[in-house]
Amino acid sequence: MNKALIIVDYQFDFVDPSGKLYVPTAETKKNYIEKLIEEFYDNKNLIIATKDVHPIDHYSFKEWGPHCVVNTNGTDLYFDASKVNKIIEKGKNKETESYSAFFDEKGNSNFLDEYLRENNIQELTIVGVALEVCVKATFDHAIELGYKTNLDLKGCAGFQDKK
Ligand SMILES: [Zn+2]
Repeated sequence: MNKALIIVDYQFDFVDPSGKLYVPTAETKKNYIEKLIEEFYDNKNLIIATKDVHPIDHYSFKEWGPHCVVNTNGTDLYFDASKVNKIIEKGKNKETESYSAFFDEKGNSNFLDEYLRENNIQELTIVGVALEVCVKATFDHAIELGYKTNLDLKGCAGFQDKK
């Protein structure tokens, strides 16, 4: 079975304690996520990273405050991305948030499903942040789309996690 690792929004603004929308304990998952990357890479499986990337006046800032603004270091991936096969950017339309890596809130595709099907991927492992927001939305769509999906909680952090 062809497998892919999906690392959701593991970016400076969410992961670094000085980030704009810090998810508690997120930085402590870095070593585990990098270990998973090595495993998937050694087994010739795909590695995909998603990035929240927003225009400066993005709609979601009313709810969340500014974060992951385009052309700032807040959007930077917080791990060694040299083995990542594909980066999916989401949230670039200023009128719509895209919690899920697959589709935005209006149902527009981020072209992750298409990429996975082109590569004949059937099984996903999902890690990243924030667990109850973008990780959950991505997991739910993965199940709906029929992927065998593993949520690896050791590689996830959520807003409810305590430092
Ligand atoms: Zn966002």
